[in-house]
Amino acid sequence: MKTIKKIAIANRGEVACRIHRTCHELGIKTVLLHSEPDTETLAYRMCDETALIGGAASADSYLNMDHVIAAALKHQADAIHPGFGFLSENAEFAQKVADAGMIFIGPTPETIMSFGDKKTAKELCQKAGVPTIPGYKGEDSDIDKLVSECEKIGYPVIVKATAGGGGRGMRVIHHHKEAHEQINLAKSEALKAFGNPSVFLEKYLHQAKHIEVQIFGDHKGNIHVLGERECSVQRKHQKIIEETPSTSLNTEQRTLVHGYAKKIAELANYLNAGTVEFLFQEDQFYFLEVNTRLQVEHPVTEEVFGVDLVKAQILTAQKTDLNWPAAFQPKGASIELRLYAEDPYKNGAPSIGQVGKLIFPQGQGRRYEYGIEARDRVTPYYDSMVAKIISTQDTREEAIADLLDLLDHLEIFGFYTNKPLLAQILRHPDYMANTVTTQFFENNFNLGLTPSLDAETQKVVADHLTKTLDIFYPIDSYFTHTTTSQKTPSTSAHNSSSMWSSQKNISATSGATLIPNSPWTNQWKESALYQGTPLVRLNLQNVNSMRVEDKMWWSYGSDTYSFSLRTKTSQAGGAQSGKIHSPMPGTLFKVLCQVGDKIKEGDTLVVLEAMKMEHSIKAAASGKITAVHFKQGDILQADDLILEME
Ligand code: ADP
Repeated sequence: MKTIKKIAIANRGEVACRIHRTCHELGIKTVLLHSEPDTETLAYRMCDETALIGGAASADSYLNMDHVIAAALKHQADAIHPGFGFLSENAEFAQKVADAGMIFIGPTPETIMSFGDKKTAKELCQKAGVPTIPGYKGEDSDIDKLVSECEKIGYPVIVKATAGGGGRGMRVIHHHKEAHEQINLAKSEALKAFGNPSVFLEKYLHQAKHIEVQIFGDHKGNIHVLGERECSVQRKHQKIIEETPSTSLNTEQRTLVHGYAKKIAELANYLNAGTVEFLFQEDQFYFLEVNTRLQVEHPVTEEVFGVDLVKAQILTAQKTDLNWPAAFQPKGASIELRLYAEDPYKNGAPSIGQVGKLIFPQGQGRRYEYGIEARDRVTPYYDSMVAKIISTQDTREEAIADLLDLLDHLEIFGFYTNKPLLAQILRHPDYMANTVTTQFFENNFNLGLTPSLDAETQKVVADHLTKTLDIFYPIDSYFTHTTTSQKTPSTSAHNSSSMWSSQKNISATSGATLIPNSPWTNQWKESALYQGTPLVRLNLQNVNSMRVEDKMWWSYGSDTYSFSLRTKTSQAGGAQSGKIHSPMPGTLFKVLCQVGDKIKEGDTLVVLEAMKMEHSIKAAASGKITAVHFKQGDILQADDLILEME
């Protein structure tokens, strides 16, 4: 097999940067295959070459196999790394890459295919003697037959898409009454997300922990087991926090589950990186699925075992020995937090915007994976995970303490994140004691978070900041957004003279500081300390603030707030008046009303889709629809007037 000299990265964001980093260390050149809006990202600046593969919609770019392969060939890549998500678990793509004469960095198309279908995967595990969750394989997809199988299994039952992934096409049925509806919803979700409406049923385990095992098949046919990860903190079946080793297992249980994973991998002649997922309830493991790719949470494994899984993937793909030990022993405890661009006070609604500031506090054992920097843009088109925060310490307790300290110092302005939510989870006694199950989030955080300052206090701060802003932040000279297609942006690409002169202005008169982080990345650090001002009335010690585009962002404690400078009122999306504007860019997924309809307060008017999530806009008052300006499928910009009511 030829040595890999250039890798095309068929992905974006933090994982594209992660892959590039290892390639760079190995002396391998990279070409980033990116969509139109993804030029303002760190991966775009980091990779050696870039190639545009299509528009914002994933179907046009990251999921378009022909575009991806043509661009990789044009740039003479020897191999394609698919990262995770997108085409990473697509057997047809893996085959097409090979047919085009390149190496697909991952398992063989046959392996991807056999595990991609969850039912086939379950059958393979049964063959390997690994326990699976009782249920119905869905041979007969007639709805009445499925409902009668639910009765046999006994509620609660979970209905899952055969081709599922990312928690989509999966619904829990608690009662006979809702069986019909939930199965139909799962089918239509499955069809929409995977182009395949096929579903199957399983007993829903409601006291379970999520335990998964990292496996790796080298080119000589050896199967390596690199410990387990516990990922029980989940929201809507999606992971939020992952860690290794799992403190839920004793030595026997650990040996047992590692053995199950190894058996499955051996039976499949598994090549390259993979993860075998299990649910663990009442001392029993149940096979869930195999992910035939690099996992989002791979860094925690790398940290405790001292390996580079991306390097191992590349070496294996070119048939080079790994020189790994026969068995691995973990060192320390590692925890990963997923940082999502979402509004923690609006139940995780997507949040987008230009990044004003993103400063990751450094420290022993800390690792960050991210794909954006200050001045980049968080867009609505892709997954909302913008960064991963990892801490590895001697013990789990120390890792938790370190993460809490880290979150206190993590500074982000320009978009909202789940930072306050992560801190609350880490502080929860059940998380600290690791007695959590996959129900933990739902049981404890379903009502959402409330900011620590009430609306009136927020307004006092906002008024104060507005006054200060008029004096110290000359509008339009401080932060002008410029689209740059330059490969290596320098500060001069960004209207620097006015920026630095306004910096002087601020320092001289308000006591605020503005420090450029480094001249060759486009990050800088800004902090404004307002003391001895009317804020003292609120007993505020420290408010950090920053203007980003037409919004003012400020933080107090671990909470972040913003208000629009156009209206000078606090930002609150949704339908307040007779004119319904789009609160964010996105696709109009559903229009649920038409001209002449009588609407009651709280009725859902339209559903937007942004960051792979659906966002309902409800009527704030009763009334009649007088105009609808967009139709289903239209792409909306923020503030577009969607409809009017009287
Ligand atoms: P996906 O491929 O969409 O990620 P998985 O099959 O890996 O779906 O399941 C994801 C999560 O959904 C699990 O970690 C668990 O929380 C929940 N889940 C799946 N199947 C069951 C089940 N039978 N009982 C309870 N929870 C389940």
